[in-house]
Amino acid sequence: MNFENTKRAYLLKSNIELYQAFYLFRIISNKNLVYLGSRLALIALKLKFPISRIFRQTIFKQFCAGFKKEDSIKVINRLNKLDVKSYMHYASEGQNSELGMEFNFKKTINTISFSKTTNALPFTVFKATSLGSVSLFEKKNSGVVLNLNEMAAWGRTIDRIQKCCKYAKKLNVKMLIDAEESWVQNAIDEIAEDLMEAFNKEKAYIFTTLQLYRKDRLKYLQELFKKANRKDFSLGIKLVRGAYIEKENKRSMDLGIPSIICKSKEATDINFNNALDYILPRIEQCKLFLGSHCESSILKVTEWMKSNDIPNNYSNIWFSQLYGMADHISFNLAAQGYNVIKYVPYGPVKEVIPYLIRRAEENTSVRSQTPRELKLIKKELKRRKLKELEL
Ligand SMILES: Cc1cc2nc3c(=O)[nH]c(=O)nc-3n(C[C@H](O)[C@H](O)[C@H](O)COP(=O)(O)OP(=O)(O)OC[C@H]3O[C@@H](n4cnc5c(N)ncnc54)[C@H](O)[C@@H]3O)c2cc1C
Repeated sequence: MNFENTKRAYLLKSNIELYQAFYLFRIISNKNLVYLGSRLALIALKLKFPISRIFRQTIFKQFCAGFKKEDSIKVINRLNKLDVKSYMHYASEGQNSELGMEFNFKKTINTISFSKTTNALPFTVFKATSLGSVSLFEKKNSGVVLNLNEMAAWGRTIDRIQKCCKYAKKLNVKMLIDAEESWVQNAIDEIAEDLMEAFNKEKAYIFTTLQLYRKDRLKYLQELFKKANRKDFSLGIKLVRGAYIEKENKRSMDLGIPSIICKSKEATDINFNNALDYILPRIEQCKLFLGSHCESSILKVTEWMKSNDIPNNYSNIWFSQLYGMADHISFNLAAQGYNVIKYVPYGPVKEVIPYLIRRAEENTSVRSQTPRELKLIKKELKRRKLKELEL
């Protein structure tokens, strides 16, 4: 695998778009600027300052496909032409009222219907806490007995989730369930297990997500595999390292309890590799959706496939990256015939700002992939300049 082929990686980007991406990554690699910028953006949003335009022309353009799913189809078709599939998500966050959840439910159902209109959208996704309230998930998670009102609200949450999954299966669209903070995740796991048991009899329609920055997840994976065998259903596993490290560590500090997160990046990597070592020999029963921008994790899988004579387009293995990030991985993998899919968020600028701030913050972290993104964009700009000179 050659991830250095920048011509392939940036085929879809014009020179101007590449320069824009370069300056954007430069800005968001500066921790202080991102900290200040995101606080200001949130204040401006609250005060209803018209900041949408600035976002639309910069970070929104890099990480989001459009305001509506219909606008996003242009992006999706362009990706599809280079054999990169997409899964769409209405990336609005923090709707915690019944009305907001009903709205999110309708958006999820609409996205599933839309996925059926093209072969470019084989998966869809939902975040459980967008379909039920976070406080209810927390209560379920900690085993607190719910009162009558809460029981009714929980019933509505399960009903929304089941309807989404049933509809996805009916339309032959696979469904990913995102993983969230540990204080709601047990409740999500329970739902995901029930859904896999109900819907994954003939094939894996439902994929649960495992965060391998958690020390306990390898054991959980092994138990889940045994359960699936015992109850005769297929497992769909989205494997990620995990996105909530600061929140998790802060919470365990505040509560004075040991952190459930691996003690270092290296320990997370070992845990992640151990999970891959467990899944790969069982790939017939345990479908893998690898959500990662880490080249060595991806190479571990492609090399295993090669040494086991598994064709690159083997349908039980998918590689996934976020839209606007790690294009050198996505497009170079796709050029070799691997199954590649981008997470493509969309929504009105104002509603996706929290998602965009998280992307920016992720790119400021010390070990982030940003220097790699910058180096590759620079290499491609140089290659294009040389080509022009040759002509
Ligand atoms: C398609 C896709 C879907 C995703 N879905 C989810 C999801 O549902 N839920 C979710 O939580 N995340 C999700 N993520 C985000 C993911 O968990 C990671 O945060 C992100 O992808 C970075 O990890 P990496 O494997 O790409 O690469 P790397 O850059 O190699 O790893 C960075 C990750 O390593 C871990 N890490 C870093 N420093 C330390 C440390 N000091 N100690 C312990 N661990 C450390 C953290 O998890 C960090 O995010 C998704 C990512 C992708 C690409």
